[in-house]
Amino acid sequence: MNVSRVDVGSDKGSMGTNFVSTELSCLFCQEQARERTSSEEGRIIYEDELFVASHRLDESELSYLGLILIRTKRHVNDLGELSDAEAEGLGRLIQRVGKALKVTTGAAWTYCYSFLEGVRHVHVFVTARYPNVPKEYVRLDIAKWPAAPMGREKEVSELSSRIRTMLREEN
Ligand SMILES: [Zn+2]
Repeated sequence: MNVSRVDVGSDKGSMGTNFVSTELSCLFCQEQARERTSSEEGRIIYEDELFVASHRLDESELSYLGLILIRTKRHVNDLGELSDAEAEGLGRLIQRVGKALKVTTGAAWTYCYSFLEGVRHVHVFVTARYPNVPKEYVRLDIAKWPAAPMGREKEVSELSSRIRTMLREEN
């Protein structure tokens, strides 16, 4: 006998270009709702009422030193949906994080990018662009550069602490 079934696959098409996520389905919002681990806490470099910024850690292998993720606290699907305060604050925060990354890592300059393909919640990556990176490793392949400064949780946490201190002292 046929019974009507819930088509769990019916949402698959929504991962296309018009996919809009909600707080309930959003990885960042879920992370924000739960308590942070001490490892996560150690990688927070900045936090205020609008944003949280943290150093990324790849727990399974070495992490690129100088990869910061800035994200809005509010669930926002697109840059165009930022409030004026968020938009202004984001610009200022990118500038401050960029400056702190240069001072703490010796980066020549910083990258800044946002695709919103993985998580549709506004976030921006600010990355240390070290001097002398060979051409084949620039842009999104920068962490594949064999000579790139890499570290485990201890080094990531130490760098995060230096960036956090610098951002705090600026205020
Ligand atoms: Zn969200």
